[in-house]
Amino acid sequence: MAVVKANAYGHGAVEVSRSLIAQGVSRVAVVSLDEGMALRTAGITIPIVILGPLFPEQIQDLVAHRLTPVISDHSLLAALVRATDSLQGAYPIHLKVETGMGRLGMATDELLAVIDSGRLPASLQLEGLMTHFADSDGPTTSQTEHQLVLFQKAISGLTARGLSIPLIHAANSGAAVRYPHSHYSLIRPGIMLYGYHTLPESIPAPDLRPVLTLRSCIAQMRTIQAGGTISYNATFVAKRTTRVAVLPIGYADGLNRRLSNRGEVLVQGRRATIIGLVCMDMVMIDVTEIPDAAVGDEVILIGRQGTDQISAADLAEWTGTIAYETLCAIGPRVPRRYRQA
Ligand SMILES: *Cc1c(COP(=O)(O)O)cnc(C)c1O
Repeated sequence: MAVVKANAYGHGAVEVSRSLIAQGVSRVAVVSLDEGMALRTAGITIPIVILGPLFPEQIQDLVAHRLTPVISDHSLLAALVRATDSLQGAYPIHLKVETGMGRLGMATDELLAVIDSGRLPASLQLEGLMTHFADSDGPTTSQTEHQLVLFQKAISGLTARGLSIPLIHAANSGAAVRYPHSHYSLIRPGIMLYGYHTLPESIPAPDLRPVLTLRSCIAQMRTIQAGGTISYNATFVAKRTTRVAVLPIGYADGLNRRLSNRGEVLVQGRRATIIGLVCMDMVMIDVTEIPDAAVGDEVILIGRQGTDQISAADLAEWTGTIAYETLCAIGPRVPRRYRQA
């Protein structure tokens, strides 16, 4: 079950889903109802699981788009039963067990109480049972192993009550690599699909390649003298005669403002530093050491150019976050172009 939430981590949920389906993926997951509806509207017909919370007023749309809910609270079951009343066959749902993430889900006792009190009617099919790990990429394994014990209790409790659950799933990317016994019937990789991971260095990571390149180009060149300043609040003051290139990409496009006076980009296969504050729509770089840099030159913000490479993980390090956030932040104004691998 490929996780394509948050516009497929910034890559474009529709195109990524189509590509994954062509490669044999049979189920995708998103977080919100709107994300699921957008995939259906784009013609994605495989099962789509909504991982995030749902509210009673969303159930009509959920069912109309044949989206599979993850139920974390029994209060939603009544609304689901009403909305699926007139349908042929049982409507598939997944239940979520909270085992240590402290986020969505029912504790095992709560879950079993729902079953025992008959609140799971026959018109709903218990297609899946899931939990989510808090620390699958952490330095130690104890929390994940503990979560697995709790999850196993929930599975045993349900099977002891005669329920068979076709789809049992727990593993995100980190667990998919590190905890083979957490694979059950499905894994839910997200970040790894896009070529990144956050596993500790002691864990051998699979051979992953970043999928996405973020590129801009030089829109204008200028030369400033020593003492000249760049961008808002004049945080960059030139110490020498400086060749400055202006790029039409800014924080509204996902270029984190913490890259101001700090981040690096590639021009003609060489590194150039961001100077001054990143603006909403533009950013300036120092190309003094790249004398033939010119208007129209390709500039790589994430990706490879020549023999050098800058990854989303590098940008994340420069800005105090993780590659997940760097990728998700790439804004809707940035055109996505896809090419066949
Ligand atoms: C985002 C998410 C995933 C995917 O996690 P990765 O670390 O990107 O592999 C899996 N399951 C749930 C519930 C999620 O929210």
